[in-house]
This record gives sequence, C-alpha cells and structure tokens, in this order.
Amino acid sequence: MGTLKIGVVGAGIGGLAAANALHRAGHDVTVFEQARQFFRVGADINLTPNAVRALDGLGEGIARAARESGARPTHRISRLWDTGEETSRLPMGDEAERKYGAPQLTIHRADLLAALADAFPAERVRFGCRAASIAATAEGASIRFEGQEDQDKATTFDVLVGADGIHSAVRTAMFGAEKPRFTGVVAFRAVVPTERVRHVPNIAAFTKWWGPTPQSQIVTFPLNQGRDTFVFATTAQASWHDESWTTAGSVDELRGFYADFHPDARALLDACDSVLKTALYERDPLPRWSIGPMTLLGDACHPMMPFMAQGAGMAIEDAVVLARNLAAVQGPQDVQAALARYEAIRIERAGRIQLGSRGNEWLKAGGNADWVYGYDAWTIPLETP
Ligand SMILES: Cc1cc2nc3c(=O)[nH]c(=O)nc-3n(C[C@H](O)[C@H](O)[C@H](O)COP(=O)(O)OP(=O)(O)OC[C@H]3O[C@@H](n4cnc5c(N)ncnc54)[C@H](O)[C@@H]3O)c2cc1C
Repeated sequence: MGTLKIGVVGAGIGGLAAANALHRAGHDVTVFEQARQFFRVGADINLTPNAVRALDGLGEGIARAARESGARPTHRISRLWDTGEETSRLPMGDEAERKYGAPQLTIHRADLLAALADAFPAERVRFGCRAASIAATAEGASIRFEGQEDQDKATTFDVLVGADGIHSAVRTAMFGAEKPRFTGVVAFRAVVPTERVRHVPNIAAFTKWWGPTPQSQIVTFPLNQGRDTFVFATTAQASWHDESWTTAGSVDELRGFYADFHPDARALLDACDSVLKTALYERDPLPRWSIGPMTLLGDACHPMMPFMAQGAGMAIEDAVVLARNLAAVQGPQDVQAALARYEAIRIERAGRIQLGSRGNEWLKAGGNADWVYGYDAWTIPLETP
C-alpha cells in the first residue's frame, strides 16, 4: 500500500471518525477545524447498533470510552401520543448485541467527540482553520483557508475529504452554492435527572411518542449511564429559523405544544427546568459525492432529519468505507477509482435513509430494523454494487 497525504476538513463526528480510520490504514492525515478548540455543545446522541459496530472497529480505546460514558437503552418502544398505546417494542441492550454484534448506545455528543479525538494524534488537528476554497490541481487537491489570500500558499493533498457539515464549504466548492432548506420543524432538547421521572414506565428504554402529525413527536432515552434522561421533542413551527445548538427555548412553550399528550409523556416535560431549541434544516440527496481527488462524507453530503437517528451513524459508516477503499491503493494514481467505489457503495444507503428520515414512519408500528441496524461497514463487499 502507498501512503497518501490526506486532508480532512471538519473535526466533527464524521471527520474524526475518518481521521482515525485513515490514520489506522497507514495514511498521513491532517484535520482542519474552523473552531478554536473543542466545545462541549450539542446533546445526547443515539447510536444504533450499525453505528456502534462501525465505531468499535476504530479501536479498543474508542469502543471502551463510548461504553463508559454511554447508556444502553433496554428497548426501543413506540407509543401513541393520546392513548399511550404501545405500538411496537424492540429489545435492544444484550439482545441487540447478540443479533447485530453491537448494542445501541446513547451518549453525549461531546463524549463521543472526545473519544474520537483522544485516539487521534493531537498535533494533526489544526484548529482555527476555516476552509474557504478547494480546487483540483495537477498534484491532487489544494485547500485555502480564510485569511490566507495567496493561492501559492494553498496546501496540497493526494485526497481531500469534506466532512464540514450541513453548510459544507467543500461541497459548495465542488458542486456549487445551494442553501440547506428549513423544514418548518423545530426540536427541543432537555436533560432531566432520572430520579425525578423514575415513576414513568420504561424510563430505561428509548421511547418514541408518535404525535398527531409526522412532525410532532417526543423521544426520551437514558443519558450519562442512566443518571439523567434526555428529552427530545419536535413540532412544526414555521416562524422559528434559528439553527444554533445553544439557543434557549421556553419550557412553557414546550409544555404547551404537547399539552394533549398522554400523562406519561407530559410528566417528562413537567420535570424539565430548561430547554434548548433548534430549527431543523435538510437537503435532498446529492447525485455525486466525489470529483477527482475530492470527496464528501457525513452531513456535508447527506444531512437528514433526526427521525431515524442515523445522521452520525451514516457519517461513521462513510468514514469506515472510505478508509477501507483507500487502504488498498498503491499511490495517488489509484485515488480516483477508490473514491468512485466509496461513493458507489455508500450513496444508495445514505440517500434511502435521508429520504426515510424525512418521512418519519421508521418503526412506528414495528417492522424489521435489520437493513439499517444489521449493516456492517467493516465487512460489506468493496466491489461496486
Ligand atoms: C437535533 C438533532 C438531533 C440529532 N440526533 C441524532 C441521533 O440521535 N443520532 C444520530 O446518529 N444523528 C443525530 N443527528 C445528526 C448528527 O448530529 C449529524 O448527522 C452528525 O453530527 C454529522 O456529523 P458530521 O461530522 O458530518 O458534521 P458536523 O457534526 O456538523 O461536523 C462538521 C465540523 O466541520 C466544522 N466545519 C464546518 N465548516 C468548516 C470549514 N469551512 N472549515 C473547517 N471546518 C469546518 C464544524 O465546526 C464541525 O466541527 C441529529 C441532528 C440534529 C440536528
């Protein structure tokens, strides 16, 4: 195998997963992140067995750290908003581990990022580097950062990976400017000490309360190894566009939106002291992810609604399949074919999940979760489908 010089733009879940996978495959990897440091922002994230299995292959340290800080929901339960009727129940925990080779884990996003960052050489993450433009050159792909006007100073790589999220500058440079679309849906996020809601049935499970419309739902699951309970509620609200992850919402407004929900669901909202509020944006599936030595992964190419809880999982799966394809190349001359293979293997699954997430019907009345949870990014064949 030849060692490639690889630049990854973005140190989010996808970028750091890719950095670890590519570094472990023997490549010379540098990550460029616009932020000045890692911040503890965001919320709890639900990693389904497919995501955990992809993560596990990135190293024992990452697998251990994720299990130490994460929680293992006992079941995935669906209930109806008004009657409280249970419409589906999937065993997770040990049974999912037996069936899929990994459990479901619910983990704070910052703990997951820390686990990924700790496993990657710190000196290879450059903070305060905001990609402004990228271009294919005779030598590979070059990148220029904000405040660096001189193209001669651009840094050149054999492969450039855009893992820079829903507003990806790399995507814009590759495929043109096109803004993400506001979905008309907002999400509330709150953390409640589990002691306060211990009386709510199945509090150690992942429970989804299906509302009267596809936009309306409440999801709850354990956080911090069960000491806390995470509440994630969505509803239609066309007037709120703020995409920030740190903007406060109103607890009274939250309770008002779900006033007609079953008392078990309302008990969780009544226990919230504070809440954060975020507008949800998405895009349509892209027909291509790669041009020459440049490619995309994660939200940069397939940002999706959170209703299947697969955004981060897809980014980690992308990272693994990308690294497996680049592991076997002999040198820069093989890069384009490897990236084309990566794209061909991943694009159909990611697009299907992106569109499925928009519909918000996933596991509403039970059904077979195997095609999502049973996917193994480490063993799927690398031949183009
Ligand atoms: C409300 C909500 C709930 C969610 N719940 C779940 C869930 O339960 N399970 C799940 O799997 N997924 C969930 N997701 C989706 C998940 O958060 C994303 O899919 C995932 O974070 C994507 O990771 P990423 O690395 O592709 O992008 P990001 O996490 O957005 O990371 C991109 C990184 O690139 C950096 N960056 C951006 N632009 C530049 C630039 N020009 N130059 C350099 N750096 C740059 C950013 O600072 C950031 O660090 C949820 C999303 C939302 C909005």
